[in-house]
Amino acid sequence: MPDVVVIGGGITGAAAAFSLAQEGQTVTLFEKHGIAAMASGWTLGGVRQSGRDVAELPLARAAVAMWATLDERLGFDVRYRRGGNLRLARDEGEVAIIRALVDRQRAEGLDLEYLATNAAVREHAPAISEHVIAASLCVSDGHADPIAATQAYARAARRKGAVIREGLAVDALRIEQGRVAGVDTREGFVPAACVILAAGVNTPALLWDLGLDLPLRVTIVHVLQTERLSPVIAQVFGVANADCAGRQEADGRLRVTSGSLPFNGDPARWSEAALAPTTSDIRRLRALVGKVLPVIEDAPRHRAWGGLIDLTPDALPVLDAPDEIAGLVIGAGFSGHGFCLGPVSGEILADLALVRDPRHDLSAFRLARFADGGAQKPAALSLHG
Ligand SMILES: Cc1cc2nc3c(=O)[nH]c(=O)nc-3n(C[C@H](O)[C@H](O)[C@H](O)COP(=O)(O)OP(=O)(O)OC[C@H]3O[C@@H](n4cnc5c(N)ncnc54)[C@H](O)[C@@H]3O)c2cc1C
Repeated sequence: MPDVVVIGGGITGAAAAFSLAQEGQTVTLFEKHGIAAMASGWTLGGVRQSGRDVAELPLARAAVAMWATLDERLGFDVRYRRGGNLRLARDEGEVAIIRALVDRQRAEGLDLEYLATNAAVREHAPAISEHVIAASLCVSDGHADPIAATQAYARAARRKGAVIREGLAVDALRIEQGRVAGVDTREGFVPAACVILAAGVNTPALLWDLGLDLPLRVTIVHVLQTERLSPVIAQVFGVANADCAGRQEADGRLRVTSGSLPFNGDPARWSEAALAPTTSDIRRLRALVGKVLPVIEDAPRHRAWGGLIDLTPDALPVLDAPDEIAGLVIGAGFSGHGFCLGPVSGEILADLALVRDPRHDLSAFRLARFADGGAQKPAALSLHG
């Protein structure tokens, strides 16, 4: 019998499995599809502290520190690049948003520069267009290869003794006398005293059966990846109202994303074809991103896909072991910016699973905040990129 069952092989679940296995815990991770099959494969892959809610900033800072040594920890090149993050302003309204962001985050101790003119922006990123009139720059932000990183976590967990079961979904959690007893799969019941639920957009469905409500709004983001180009831009870039973002991957491909768009399907029944952007979606995306990075307009397409976003009402995740059910730990609702946090989320979930003091203040991430009205409206700036 495993000490801990992890549900979900995205970066959150894989990092939690690694943290626990490294500490000698017996871990089994169930992944319905394959490692990094959902958000952790669809993502832009930005690793940033800038634009974060104040509650999340300490986690993002700790994560950025961990990303610097992840290759060594996991024994694999996760293509982490600390090239900076630019948040661009295209008009005076966006200038005001960026100025306020810089003032607030500097007061919170983040090293964030304000670039007040187009020339100042282009000094750092010559490929940016003349339509950009100002920007924030966080030089300690960066990006990484999301599939490589998530798979590296899963492999490292396996090397430490974790069992990773791909292609096998958890159908339900079993609760007996107020505590976790195990999970049901099509192969039968697996007993466990602790279950970490990190199933991304599918998390609410598994919680609902337990009488717990995680109110997620699921949206979709369109992603375009180009063929390899010579160096264009070192920074991850986004815009003040978060309607597009992008980066150049380590191998030269540009990966650009739309903003968060309405999604009307069932997240449990997604298919690549159903999520794929249409030709006109891609045309719109090229035009939008082209306004700030003109090279995207004609860059040859390699691949395009759609990715689902798990938005909570305050755009903050749930990292919690709710009082209602002993042995249940939740890591979900990352609201489009959980890739960066993965290494830290994994450690936090391991702390919660082992019932020891977590190394961060988690009061903003309790599940109960939605029921007791503590969740505030999200800042648009907290979206991906
Ligand atoms: C287009 C896009 C751009 C983004 N950009 C950024 C960015 O720049 N920076 C950033 O930090 N974040 C970004 N994000 C968000 C980030 O990718 C996610 O927050 C993060 O990957 C979430 O990881 P996760 O492990 O919690 O969820 P997921 O990666 O979704 O993993 C959940 C896993 O659970 C599995 N699963 C579901 N149900 C079951 C079940 N019943 N049994 C077993 N397994 C199950 C799924 O198959 C899935 O693999 C972006 C997301 C998208 C979609």
